[in-house]
Formats: sequence, structure tokens, C-alpha cells
Amino acid sequence: MKYIVLAETYSELERIPSKLKKTEIIAKLFKETPANLLEAVTLLIQGRVFPSWSEKEIGVAEQLMIKAIAKSAGVSAEDVVKDYKKSGDLGLAVETLVGKKRQRTLGSEQLTVGKVFANLQAISEHSGGGSQDRKLDLIAELLSQATATEAKYIVRTVLEQLRVGVAEGLVRDAVASAYNVPVDDVENAWNLLPDFGEVAKAAKEGGEKGLKKFKLRLGTPFIVQLAEKSPSLKDAIESYKKVLLEYKYDGMRTLIHKKGEKVWLFTRNLENITAAFPDLVQLARKNIKADDCVLDGETIGLDRKTGKPVPFQQLSTRIKRKYDIEKSVEEIPIDVNLFDIVYLDGKNLMELTLEERKKCLAKSIHSVSGKFHVAEGLVTTDLKEADAFYKEALKAGEEGVIVKDLNALYVPGRRVAGGWLKVKPVMENLDVVIVGGTWGTGKRAGTIGSLHLAIRDAESGKFLECGMMGTGLKEKTQSERSSAAPRAKGATESEQDGSVTLKEMTKLLKPLVEHEAGSLVKFKPKIVIEVAYEEIQKSPTYISGFALRFPRFIRLRPDKSADEADTIERVKTLYGQQKGKK
Ligand code: AMP
Repeated sequence: MKYIVLAETYSELERIPSKLKKTEIIAKLFKETPANLLEAVTLLIQGRVFPSWSEKEIGVAEQLMIKAIAKSAGVSAEDVVKDYKKSGDLGLAVETLVGKKRQRTLGSEQLTVGKVFANLQAISEHSGGGSQDRKLDLIAELLSQATATEAKYIVRTVLEQLRVGVAEGLVRDAVASAYNVPVDDVENAWNLLPDFGEVAKAAKEGGEKGLKKFKLRLGTPFIVQLAEKSPSLKDAIESYKKVLLEYKYDGMRTLIHKKGEKVWLFTRNLENITAAFPDLVQLARKNIKADDCVLDGETIGLDRKTGKPVPFQQLSTRIKRKYDIEKSVEEIPIDVNLFDIVYLDGKNLMELTLEERKKCLAKSIHSVSGKFHVAEGLVTTDLKEADAFYKEALKAGEEGVIVKDLNALYVPGRRVAGGWLKVKPVMENLDVVIVGGTWGTGKRAGTIGSLHLAIRDAESGKFLECGMMGTGLKEKTQSERSSAAPRAKGATESEQDGSVTLKEMTKLLKPLVEHEAGSLVKFKPKIVIEVAYEEIQKSPTYISGFALRFPRFIRLRPDKSADEADTIERVKTLYGQQKGKK
């Protein structure tokens, strides 16, 4: 299969915004792809060379890419940089440079998908002394055989900047359409083995039946079960007949796969964190009695001195650590709270009830208090008892409770299955001021990409930053999307109901620009918005000393001036009220 087929598909995908059309284009590509190239094509179409859960990465910096382009186009690095500066995209730079230099000479060999994929994978194999030269050769070899269009996409793939708008959902739908199988079957198979190469191959060769045969595989992460929000503890415990309440720990979802002495660790985002947590690997090796199993749980970080849980933010510094891992092990000790088992010695336990799985879990581990044990839980349907347990969880510094149906099976997948309900204290919304932001890039250039939020210091009258928010705003107004909603005479839609589109927000902010540096921009503090958030955290990053975790846009507050925004005092009070704080 020629790489130009893929490159032309990218071009098409870039031009076409419609998801439906994109799905058709990708489905057509999959149909043309032979089984032995499905792994390569399903990854490359997403701009990947390895699945998201692989520990391998290409790891090529811009500087090296500039050298590779210069070498293959026969120009100087300065020439490449000059072109790069014009467009801000090395993909476009190489397209121009290769385009100038040559048309493909007749008879010269055309790049194949297999060759491109092999070279890109090989790039990650090289590390240490002399590796840069070898990486450069692998890229330059491809670029020197590529047409201008091919070169553009090779460069973007290597730099992990493909951006043709192909998310997992599109690939899933395209697999279903290409091989005429139900989307749900594709999704279910992918939940167990999130690798579209394998899923597509099974669909191509075995249809629905092939997909139904999918099993969890030791050493490959699956898509974990998630909890749904419940409006109240009462609602939650009334939802099931047999109820188990568990602490909702504020930590890192941890999937432990064990096969004999070999242990792998994954997060809920399929990240492989085995190397970053040697202490956890050790605990698992020592305290899991079963030979082969997969355990599900939440790991929290502990304060070395007090032994109390530290905020997730602190533990998360361990996730990305590549160096000084031993030091971080000492600095932030961990406590692993296990709450499920989904695989045991060759058997898939997802089809057992939680009650049965809990029995298997208890039998499969040695409990080590404060380090590696079953999560704190209580079986009850009595609201008073449940409430006391909930309060105990908050007092212990945890986020709340998860209420679980003891009769439910384990259902992997991003769509919520209903067997787990989370109950957390509801945080009151805050009215904050927009004081800065960043401009979007690519298609979103010229619109605001993220917003810097601030609260008011009543004493000094200053606005102190307390968080950043991806705008979460809709691209179009309701009336642009469908039939126009009736609107009060003279009022814009946003003024009427506080909703606002990205375009409208940009228009509101543009006249307020005070200062710009690159894509960063400062605004005069004028616009007040109401935001919801998950939690208030102490933070050294923001001048207010607090950070709103996961702020979400609720509505504009055109009725409020900046002087009426919420104050730092209010944030302090809310912070104090939120759980028995750490
Ligand atoms: P949220 O992140 O608020 O959607 O809550 C879901 C997350 O809570 C899960 O992904 C887990 O990481 C975490 N969690 C903490 N404790 C538990 C527990 N006992 N059972 C299940 N999930 C838990």
C-alpha cells in the first residue's frame, strides 16, 4: 500500500469538518487496507506510531527535525527556520521546500505505508550516544523519497502534530462501517483491548463473531469502569438493593496486571506507569497471592511526616518522572486501596457480581495496613449509617464516597454503566473575572483558546488569578445550530440567558486587551463569569494561593461588574468548608 494513499486521506480529512464525512473517508481507507497493515494504518490515521498505552515514544525534538529537513531538501538549517517562522508549522515548511526542490522523478521508488511505519517505529529504538544521528538518518531517508504532501504529513506525525481531527470515536465508527459490524461490538472489543489494529483485524476477518471473542490481555490496559454522579447520598443508596459504600480516594486510578513475577501498572488514561512506581511493583509482587491477575484500585500519596493523604496534584508529580525515581519514592510514599479484581488465573471475573469479585479480591492478596489493602467500605442500606460513613470519609481527607451495587457486573467503558455512583460535597459556583487567556491556534486562531480566571482581593481591589479554563464554549449559537429561539427584542442570545459562544466571548474580550506576548494575552478585568469546579486546592502557582480544579463555564454574569466578583475571603471560607481538609 502506497503512503501517498494515506497522505491524500489526511489532506481530505483536513479539508472536511463533517464527522460523518470523515468517518466515510476513514472507512474507505480501512477497506483498502490489507490485514497486515491494519495496525499501521489505524495508528497512523490517529497521528500515532504506538498505541497510547505503549511505553515507547518517537521523541524527536524540533531542532533535530529541522536538521533532517535541511539534509533531505539539500538546504541549510537557516533556510528551514526561515520558512518555519513564516508559517509556524514545520510540516508546511517541508512541503514548500520539497515542492521547490523536486517533483518525483519518474521511476523513483514510491514510499509505502510499511516503510514509513517501520522507520517511524525504529526512531524510538535509538537512545543514548549517537542516537540523534541515527534518528536523523531514519527521518531523512523518508523525506528524501517523499513528495511534498507526503513530507508534510511525515514531519507532522514525527512531531506528534498531525491534527487532522481523528479522535477515537471516529476510528471506532469507521471500523464498524468498513466491516459492516455493530458500533457497540467494536466499542466493547476496544474497551477490553484498546488497540484499533487488532479490533479492525478481528472485524475484517471474523465480523461480529470475531469481535465477541475479545478478551482482556495481561500487560495491555483496558478501559476501566467509571462512576456516575449522584445528586445525594440518599438517592445513591436507594438506587440498589445490595449496597456497598467505599471511600472515594483522591488519588490515581491504578490497574495492576500481574503475570508470575512480571507486573505492569496502568492509569485510567491507559498510561503505563510501571517504571515510575517501583515501590508499587514491589508491593504487588510481594502481596498478591495469585499467579496471574488484574486488580483495580486507587493509589494515594502520603505526607512523609504526618502519614496523611496529600492532594492528588502532589502524587501526580510522580507519574511523569523519568529521572530520580528513587528519590520520589522516598519523598511521596504511597498507599494502595484496592477495590476490584477483574481477572484471576485465566478467568475473566468481569462477569461475576461485585459481591463475588470482592470475595476473590480478599483471597488474592496479603493485606499490609497503610500500604496495600482493600479499600475502606461498608455494606448498608441504612441512611444514618451511610451518612456517618460518608462524614468519616470526608474527615479522613477523602473526596466522598462511591456507592456500589453488589449485584452488578464489572462493565468496562467510558460510557457510564450505572453500577457505581459517586457522592461528593457539592461546591458552590463562583463568580470570577477573566483577566487573561491564550489565543487558539490552527483553525481556532483568532478566537480565545483558554481563559485565566481571577478573584477579587477586597482590601487592595486587585484581581488575583485562581485558575485556567479551556473555554468549554460552543462554537455556534443555538439559533445557528437549529431553529432560532425566540429572544427578547434587542437582546443578544448571550445577554438573554448568560450562555455565550466562543465567537461572542472573543468579541467581548477583544476590546479589553491590555497586553499581548505570543499567544498569551492580558485583559482588563471587566467580564464576570460564573464557574463550577470540582474542588479548591491550595496552590503556589497562582498569586491568590488557590486553584480551582477543573473549572467549567456556567454562564456570563453581565449583571455583575468586576467589583462584585467573589473575593479571596469567600474562596478561603469555601476551602475550609470543603471536607475536613488535609
Ligand atoms: P471522578 O474522577 O470524580 O469521575 O471519580 C471517579 C474516580 O474516582 C475513579 O476513576 C477512581 O479513580 C476514583 N476512585 C476513588 N475511590 C474509588 C473507589 N472506592 N471505587 C471506584 N473509584 C474510586
